[in-house]
Amino acid sequence: METHDPDSSRRSIVAVNVALGCVALLGVAWIPFFCWSVSLERDWARAAGERTAATPSAIPAPPRSETVTPEHEQVGSLVVGSSGPSAALGSLDDAFLDEIDDTLGSCLPDDDHREGATIRLVADKQQGAADAGRDTHILALEYRPPVGEPSRFYEFVGHDAQGYYDATGTQACSTGWRSPLAKLRRTSPFNPRRMHPILRRPMPHQGTDFGAPKGTPVYASYRGTVSFVGPHGAHGNWVAIVHPDGTETGYAHLSKFAQGLEVGDHVRPHQLIGYVGSTGRSTGPHLHFSARTNGPFVDAESLLKPPTTAVPEAERHAFLKAKAELDQRLDAVPPLAH
Ligand SMILES: [Zn+2]
Repeated sequence: METHDPDSSRRSIVAVNVALGCVALLGVAWIPFFCWSVSLERDWARAAGERTAATPSAIPAPPRSETVTPEHEQVGSLVVGSSGPSAALGSLDDAFLDEIDDTLGSCLPDDDHREGATIRLVADKQQGAADAGRDTHILALEYRPPVGEPSRFYEFVGHDAQGYYDATGTQACSTGWRSPLAKLRRTSPFNPRRMHPILRRPMPHQGTDFGAPKGTPVYASYRGTVSFVGPHGAHGNWVAIVHPDGTETGYAHLSKFAQGLEVGDHVRPHQLIGYVGSTGRSTGPHLHFSARTNGPFVDAESLLKPPTTAVPEAERHAFLKAKAELDQRLDAVPPLAH
């Protein structure tokens, strides 16, 4: 008898209400302002209505710097809530949500804590970038939890600095890789030179073991394509995913797979792929999480560690100037009411 995990149930109904306004500052009087409800799990929710682009008169337009011409600026505000029935949306919105997950997902709290949170962002519609499969580029994002202080993240590209930085100029969340479990309790690290304690012969540990109770949801650590689902020798029930950079991650000893998961499926970062178990060569419930890039295994856990570099002192002034400008643009985005 298969039971449905309550966390995954909740996560599957967590949705994002997206209000996305496209503002082209090319003398165009106004452009429609759409309001959509969409689920993070690609369960597109009902379209919630349509608004005009007119910013409420209570919120004045921000002063624009002469040097900044956000020709293809897109602004949006999102409220995380429960989804309604599904409805299909265009590719722009797929890219838009992928972009949030890829670039900033690792800075945001677990989905469990997101419901009721609001997000405001400023993005750039990159013309002619369709071939690259990505045409929406986030410049700045504000995350406001239901309780507590909001945080903001800013893209900054300087001479050495490059990526997303928080308000203090610390780069805390640019990898896009997500934890395969909600809580990571490492029980055995990656060790390619491990010696068997009794046999005295090399028995490399090609992944990282994380202890967790049977049935704990396991998530894709990054977007990619499922390359294996099924029993796989010592791995037991195994899922493998090939990511855009060629890295293949593996998730072993699962008790069961996410319903309907098949080879060839495209998965998003943090998408449910299975449940912790103890199948294959395993002495107790845990996740064996591995990664390989063109052959040799690498330390999968290292993929999850965000860089913690700061904007170099020499570029500090430029960062603060860019931040101030992006703050003005964020401030001008009308928050979406719950
Ligand atoms: Zn292991």
